[in-house]
Amino acid sequence: MNWQGPRISGGFVVFGVAQAVANPVPPVVQCAMRGSFLTVFLVVMLACSGAAFWGAYGYFKGGELQQAGARLSLYRSTVDAELERFSHLPFVLARDTFVIETATGGDPRRLNARLATFAERAGIDAIYLMDEQGITRSASNAGRPDSFVGQDYSFRPYFQAAIKGQQGQFYGVGVTTGVPGYFFANAVRDDAGAIRGVIAIKIDLSDLQRSWQEAGERVLLANADGVVLLASVQDWRYRSLSDLTVAQLSRIAEARQFGTQAITPLDWQPEGADTAAIDGQTLLHLQTRDLPNQWSLHYFASDAQAITRAWLVTGVVLFIAGTILISVQFQRARRIGAALRRSEREEAELRAANERLAVEIEERRSAERRLQRTQDELERAGRLAVLGQLAASVTHELGQPIAAMRNHLAAAELQGQGGTMLPRLQGLVDRMEGITRQLKFFARKGKQEFEQVDLRDAIHAVLELMRPSVDTQEVTLDITLPDHPVMLQSNRLRIEQVMTNLMRNAVDAMVDCDPRVLSVAVGQDNDAVWFTVGDTGHGLGDRDLRELAEPFVTTRESGQGMGLGLAISSAIVDDHGGRISAQNRDSGGAIFRVTFPKQEHA
Ligand code: ADP
Repeated sequence: MNWQGPRISGGFVVFGVAQAVANPVPPVVQCAMRGSFLTVFLVVMLACSGAAFWGAYGYFKGGELQQAGARLSLYRSTVDAELERFSHLPFVLARDTFVIETATGGDPRRLNARLATFAERAGIDAIYLMDEQGITRSASNAGRPDSFVGQDYSFRPYFQAAIKGQQGQFYGVGVTTGVPGYFFANAVRDDAGAIRGVIAIKIDLSDLQRSWQEAGERVLLANADGVVLLASVQDWRYRSLSDLTVAQLSRIAEARQFGTQAITPLDWQPEGADTAAIDGQTLLHLQTRDLPNQWSLHYFASDAQAITRAWLVTGVVLFIAGTILISVQFQRARRIGAALRRSEREEAELRAANERLAVEIEERRSAERRLQRTQDELERAGRLAVLGQLAASVTHELGQPIAAMRNHLAAAELQGQGGTMLPRLQGLVDRMEGITRQLKFFARKGKQEFEQVDLRDAIHAVLELMRPSVDTQEVTLDITLPDHPVMLQSNRLRIEQVMTNLMRNAVDAMVDCDPRVLSVAVGQDNDAVWFTVGDTGHGLGDRDLRELAEPFVTTRESGQGMGLGLAISSAIVDDHGGRISAQNRDSGGAIFRVTFPKQEHA
């Protein structure tokens, strides 16, 4: 049975899965996830707040603009009504008999009183009559320091229009009083229909301005040239909304429309359809041109309230969005936490299964090794058993003839026969005996005698035996023995036999080599006693000990060796519970190491 190793990779597979499950969300990834969530959170909150602010601002601004539109419309109607109210009065006055009489040369004093009464009753600034040259003949304010009587108003556009038979309308600063007002003028005709003068009224519009101021509004009324006539802010008055041309300026100067007042540009700039920057402040801006004389009415309102409300809405939206996001994240964290705990549990289970599997694999592996060893031992035991039977019959069969030959040779020697053949035959008989002696080891059965042997003594005894061949081959000895005994419970003869075999092989391996050094060492450590036999011979080549220790494996020439030395030595060492190892030395040659487990002895 050969239980192969895919289980190992299976073990790794399982371990790999365990690793993967061990930390489903690694810390770096968790950190990156937290960072990215924060970024997403911030981006979403920013987007929400931006959208909420602009949406709410647009909405509230729309409301403000609607309100501003209503106010503008109201003020436009007021201006309209104020101008309309007295527009027909000069026409009516031009037909008054007192007016016609005075215009055609009558005494103006009566008319002065009459006009004063009219002006007072109607709430008009002034009513006055001019002759065809524009010189005032009669006026409601006659006799007062600011009386118009005698003043020449021929340069005024309202006079110039009226003298041509049209109705003159004009806004300007009074040249006599310096008070601004709106002028209406009509021609006064005699009975024949000829134009004999011009009757004019001046209306004070400052009430409009005052009402805007009192209401806290920012309103301005500009004429066709864009010059501000009336404004709730004092500083805006007589400023121009855009740069005036030279022609416009000279026309204004000619009509003395604004007296000596210099017209400078107003600090304002329309921004888009419904906002304008004025005096460094951005305000909502609406205007209407639906007024007489191409006038325009401008209304400015602050959007501060819209902004405040927009911020409030943004705050509420942010709070809701934040709450939703945080609760979503909280739910997510809970889900991740639960998944993490689940995966940790699964990981622990997998790890345990993995460990169980690893133990099982190791057990099976060692069983496999034990099985392999047992198989090897069985095979070897089988071979040795066959060898033992063979050895027993060979040594038995050869024992008698060898003994007989030795007897015959002894007899021949005694009788002085045999000549020079005798020593050679004796040598051959010695060798045959040697072979049968070696073979007898395999045939041997039964219990052996064990005793405490000091390995140093055994080495000395073997070296003594080896002395002749060591000397003959001029081998240098390098012996390393400890000072203290190295004891081994063993069969002395067998251990010496192992040492002899190894040393003989070492000496034989160095026959053609130089130098020839036989190194022998004995020692012990915590759990083993050992000896080594090394040489400077030709080494083991590619073969390993397992191969060399097979019976009858030899590299020697026929008759030189039987290939039994290492087989016998291995068997003896096995019997003692030890093991032999062999390897080539880096410096050349081979070294054999025999190790026995240290035995407990009293
Ligand atoms: P034999 O000595 O009869 O050949 P062994 O079993 O003792 O039988 O040795 C088997 C073979 O192992 C030898 O023939 C030899 O090739 C090799 N061998 C043993 N010892 C050494 C050694 N020290 N150096 C090189 N080869 C060796």
